Amino acid sequence: MRKPFVCGNWKMNTDRQGAVALAQATAKTAGEVRGVEVGVCPPACYLEAVLGAVKGSALVVGGQNMHFEATGAFTGEVAGPMLKELGCHYVILGHSERRREFCESDELIAKKLRAVFTFSLRPILCVGETLTEREANQTMAVVKRQIASALKDLPVDHACQAVIAYEPVWAIGTGRRALPHDAQEVHAFIRGLLREMYPILPLPNGSLAAPTPAESVRIIYGGSVTPDTVYEQMLQPDIDGSLVGGASLKADGFAKIITESARAKGL
Ligand code: PEP
Repeated sequence: MRKPFVCGNWKMNTDRQGAVALAQATAKTAGEVRGVEVGVCPPACYLEAVLGAVKGSALVVGGQNMHFEATGAFTGEVAGPMLKELGCHYVILGHSERRREFCESDELIAKKLRAVFTFSLRPILCVGETLTEREANQTMAVVKRQIASALKDLPVDHACQAVIAYEPVWAIGTGRRALPHDAQEVHAFIRGLLREMYPILPLPNGSLAAPTPAESVRIIYGGSVTPDTVYEQMLQPDIDGSLVGGASLKADGFAKIITESARAKGL
């Protein structure tokens, strides 16, 4: 079974003291709940404080964004090697807020995705449709375009390490969420795309090469996840976790999201 992954995206929230306290409380839960990988993505300027505060715990930490170059004249940007040196494991790429507010294109996100593995970081690749696209029945086409562009020519061993977050844009920070069955449909579709992009190839001795990205990639859901709705969502077979914005900022609520996720998966 894929290990469920529950990750908080703190966006541009918290202050230094609050970030450390929230991280410590979340690290405690991460240590208590077996079988679920728990992560947080604090603002870049608090990464060092957070990583110092949770050192040695089960909590993993990620950046919220990264430039594709390792160094250079890119005022205001954060480089992958900087995140890695601090102790990050993950970085969110292609969040809809970056796509919308900072004009990040599929091409730019693909460049970042290629670079992230050279920095020994793992991407949390966000994809998802806008409300207009959903109403025009374009959900699958949009998700397919975003995934095909981001993963194009990506070696299978790198693809296996990726986490994909399906985040319908209309559900982010709105209190509206995709119903579990609807989200499951998109997650299963994404897994099907991975199967097409990375078919099972038999090894020379006739046995099957494993694991493939279709089997191993965690596809997590994001968009107004709450402690009260996550259980039902996590019962879906292709929903392997959550990317949680607002509800990850309260330690108790986020702890419940983690324990409910474990309960739904029978852990
Ligand atoms: C997000 O920003 O990735 C997100 C899912 O936010 P929220 O949980 O607040 O909808």
